[in-house]
Amino acid sequence: MADVVTCKCLIGGQWTEARTERFADVWNPSTGELIARTPLCANEDVDRAVRAAQAAFPAWRDTPPPDRARVMFRFRNLLERNADDVARICTREHGKTFAESRASVQRGVEMIEFACGLPSLLVGENTRNIAPNVDAETVRHPLGVVAGITPFNFPAMVPLWMYPNGLTCGNCFILKPSERVPLSSIRVAELLLEAGVPEGVFSIVHGDKTCVDALLTHPDVKAISFVGSTAVAKHVYETGTAHGKRVQAAGGAKNHMVVMPDAELHPTVRGMLHSAYGCAGERCMAGSLAVAVGDVADELVAHFADEVAKIRVGRTDVPEAAVDMGPVISRQHLDRVLGYIDSAEREGAKIVLDGRKVKVANSPEGFFVGPTIIDHVQPEMTVAREEIFGPVLPFVRVKTLDDAIALGQRCQYGNGAVIFTNSGPAARKFKHEFPAGMIGVNLGVPAPMAWYPFTGWRNSFFGDLHIQAREGMLFYTQQRMIMTRWFEPAQIDKHDPVWRPGKS
Ligand code: NAD
Repeated sequence: MADVVTCKCLIGGQWTEARTERFADVWNPSTGELIARTPLCANEDVDRAVRAAQAAFPAWRDTPPPDRARVMFRFRNLLERNADDVARICTREHGKTFAESRASVQRGVEMIEFACGLPSLLVGENTRNIAPNVDAETVRHPLGVVAGITPFNFPAMVPLWMYPNGLTCGNCFILKPSERVPLSSIRVAELLLEAGVPEGVFSIVHGDKTCVDALLTHPDVKAISFVGSTAVAKHVYETGTAHGKRVQAAGGAKNHMVVMPDAELHPTVRGMLHSAYGCAGERCMAGSLAVAVGDVADELVAHFADEVAKIRVGRTDVPEAAVDMGPVISRQHLDRVLGYIDSAEREGAKIVLDGRKVKVANSPEGFFVGPTIIDHVQPEMTVAREEIFGPVLPFVRVKTLDDAIALGQRCQYGNGAVIFTNSGPAARKFKHEFPAGMIGVNLGVPAPMAWYPFTGWRNSFFGDLHIQAREGMLFYTQQRMIMTRWFEPAQIDKHDPVWRPGKS
């Protein structure tokens, strides 16, 4: 217990103890050991953070955009220099492999690089003489105090989808990281402070529903960015908008991977494998339902099972760990994933590779489940419909591409979908007709990079403007339209009547 740290909030530029008696546990999922306690803040801490942010807002709003961007340049360099350190923290609290954590930090670096260029996007528009002697212009203004609420699965990266853009647009930002993985956010925030972000401009509060609801209902929080499960995304969207806020809320997913009979088998298997089992399946863009079209299924499943059986499962928190896949986030989540495999067996599907049997010798208390393949799954079975968020890939067999698209229509989610094929017409039909917001052709994870928005559809997103890229900038700013007229004294006709109906 000696090494168990109690996390602090960042309020007004200072690391400060939360005013709460409630705490959540943070585990090392590789060992099942308790490593930290997250305070579960309520109204008082949220209000302190909002007041500090409000106080900092006028000066930050008036800081020239290139100077705000310069903070991001320094932040980017610091994060790159400390990427291994951040990745190690991420792996320790989340369980994904060091390579996966490191790659996610690199994605975060790219988010900051995008924000470094935001002054180019913040330029307004103008028209000279929109009416006689009248000029029109638009100017982008920040919103004020905005907040981000993030999930457990990308502790370092997902917060960086939000606050580099929010801050560079001139807002003050309050982050509420997942209470299950607060340590990466704290380390990255230290780097942001080192980069020179002024006091109160960036804050961290910790917590669960109580803290989230305090942000959603606080009258001085102007906008909420959320990433997490669909049920909570919907709650955040409905509550936040009911309290007059802008909300962008990304939710859960069930991403279909459609394999046509003409697909190149070997790269298809590789793409599917990384998609389904990368980060132990805990990715909102993970391929989570394989749809084998026509007669491809038997050969595909056999080849796929041969490759998946080679995945090495084990502790990720030891240096140079020779493992390909780590544990899932918690004991509770492990039980949930195991329960899904049980349900498939009960409902009559065939377990081709059974992750329930995995044993990690040097860590009996770790939260491990091995990669699992389930074949002959029917569309109405639980594992075909629900998000499992673990290393489990169910296979459904259909006759035609139209059947595969119809299966997509019945899915409540619409985050991503991919097709593996050598047929241009099939790929074209798929990308135009499959009901998901992010489409991949012959690649497993079509997650957009920093320069594109994260365009989930259906129950995978609630809101109008998506997170990341130009849409992120639009979300964090409001436009002002200004009409201007100046008078040349010599041109003023003092005999012209002041009141002339129809003229202004
Ligand atoms: P979660 O919904 O349980 O938690 C997300 C955030 O909401 C956390 O900060 C948590 O503290 C808070 N929260 C939890 N319950 C709440 C409640 N009842 N009321 C208010 N706030 C609450 O999600 P998670 O388990 O941390 O993350 C996994 C989920 O996130 C998966 O469904 C995954 O698909 C999704 N996800 C989506 C995207 C995307 O871009 N669409 C990206 C990453 C993860």
